Amino acid sequence: MIISHKIQLNPTAVQEAYFRRACGTVRFTYNWGLARWKELYEAGEKPTAFSLKREFNAIKTEQFPWVAEVSSRCTEYAFTRLGAAFANFFRRVKNGEKELGYPRFKSKRDTHQSFYVANTGLKLDGHWVKIPRLDAPINMAETLRFQGKIMSGVISSYGGRWWLAVAVDVGEVETAVSGPPVGIDLGVKDAAILSTGQVFENQKHLRSELRKLRRLNRELARREKGSQGWYRTKDKLAKLHAQIRNRRTDGIHKMTTAVTKQYGVIGVENLNVRGMMANHHLAQAVGDVGMFEIKRQLTYKAALYGAVVVEVGRWYPSSRLCAACGWKNTELTLTDREWTCPECGCIHDRDVNAAVNIRDEALRIIGAP
Ligand SMILES: [Zn+2]
Repeated sequence: MIISHKIQLNPTAVQEAYFRRACGTVRFTYNWGLARWKELYEAGEKPTAFSLKREFNAIKTEQFPWVAEVSSRCTEYAFTRLGAAFANFFRRVKNGEKELGYPRFKSKRDTHQSFYVANTGLKLDGHWVKIPRLDAPINMAETLRFQGKIMSGVISSYGGRWWLAVAVDVGEVETAVSGPPVGIDLGVKDAAILSTGQVFENQKHLRSELRKLRRLNRELARREKGSQGWYRTKDKLAKLHAQIRNRRTDGIHKMTTAVTKQYGVIGVENLNVRGMMANHHLAQAVGDVGMFEIKRQLTYKAALYGAVVVEVGRWYPSSRLCAACGWKNTELTLTDREWTCPECGCIHDRDVNAAVNIRDEALRIIGAP
């Protein structure tokens, strides 16, 4: 199983200059390929990323000698990306989609810039990573989370910071499921409530930064598109988004690691996230929690640590059923945080009760005794 870990880098000025040159080479090569593709297509030919790469390699030494200042993986990567962009476009055309997304020229101003580092040149050691063409190792903000064979790396710039995404082949994963069952209620109020009553707080980072976000969005709308000020605001926005995303992902990692290491069967709701997003009041809270991210992490970590994730149907009334006797509370509203079962007298915390029901339903689905 291949897992990717994105680590923040702290490059020196020299290293950052190399990163920029590498990103620039990727951009240049990509744009060359795209322009050439259009040219050949209009001339009635059928170019491919592979044929263009061959053509580029044949002329690069003479016409673009400076591309040799960075690793040749940069130009290879550009053609891989170009091929993927066209594959995506063709797929959309075939499916008759409205947004066709014809590949666009890359700009120095794009908020995402990246280049590829092959596994042969990538050496990680604690908080340091070595890449080809740079003698000194680059500092990493954290160590690699997974053990295994390093497959490749992509260095990218986003939100005013540099990142290294490392793909690691963790090999055979544990298949023996061990540990007790648990249900998780991915609530609106908190990020996650376990059937054991344990709460993983949703720190509501987004909410606290929302005012700043709104202000920057207004500022961007006021500015003339493409002007210096517009780009400045756009950079600030990207920075803020990255900051929010990191803090949120960090919290989710802690929760999903704890849960998958401790429990064997993990029940979660198969929520209609899109439907919830359409609901104005829930949208922000759900977005805060990062439900997609929670499920993604739970699934791969469960495979790593020997647990199974069971999705409980989204029509299953986990909040409404009394976990003690099964009575259904049809009157329960979203604002009821606590309720008493008239049938058995049990006093329920809304979310813990839901989590217990999710756990039991997950066990029923997998046919546990
Ligand atoms: Zn009851």
